[in-house]
Amino acid sequence: MSRNQNLPVVAFIGLGGNVGDPIATLRSALHRLMTVPRSRFLGASRFYRTPAWGERDQADFVNAVAAIETALAPKALLDELLGIERQFGRQRDSEAGVRWGPRTLDLDILLYGATSLDTAGLTLPHPHLHERAFALVPLLELVDDIDIPGRGSARGALTRLDRSGIQPLAER
Ligand code: ATP
Ligand code: CA
Ligand code: CA
Repeated sequence: MSRNQNLPVVAFIGLGGNVGDPIATLRSALHRLMTVPRSRFLGASRFYRTPAWGERDQADFVNAVAAIETALAPKALLDELLGIERQFGRQRDSEAGVRWGPRTLDLDILLYGATSLDTAGLTLPHPHLHERAFALVPLLELVDDIDIPGRGSARGALTRLDRSGIQPLAER
């Protein structure tokens, strides 16, 4: 029997955007996450304004993390998320010209249960989760602490990072 045919796992999804009206985009994206097939929406963090990471010469991002329980296999979940990004007007051709460049909506699978996976199209846990305060801060709003497979505890990872500049927003 193929794994995960029946047993739901909890997946954490990172949301981000810095083009257009990212707060409105993230709000609608959360509603779309409530309709992902074979999945149950568990909750979402507050929204945070965060300085751009990697390619710093661009507008601040708005970031959040959502938790869903899902019976979708990892690749099927990623396909759902890429479909939602497209619905929100993410244009990979032009926007993806710059790695880590501006985008209307970015949805990443941060964690899929305790799964470790390294394939061409999908790496789990997300390869940069442990070095991104903008993902760890909202993640740790949803859980007290959690193990990042191969990287130790999320809270431990955050203590090694600069989290200044990551500001919770009043709106969500
Ligand atoms: P980063 O992955 O460093 O946050 P990014 O989000 O800007 O960068 P994208 O251009 O959105 O990168 O994604 C490129 C590809 O990364 C996607 O098409 C997808 O196949 C792949 N990918 C690998 N692992 C993951 C993951 N855990 N979550 C989302 N996409 C992933
Ligand atoms: Ca990303
Ligand atoms: Ca992405």
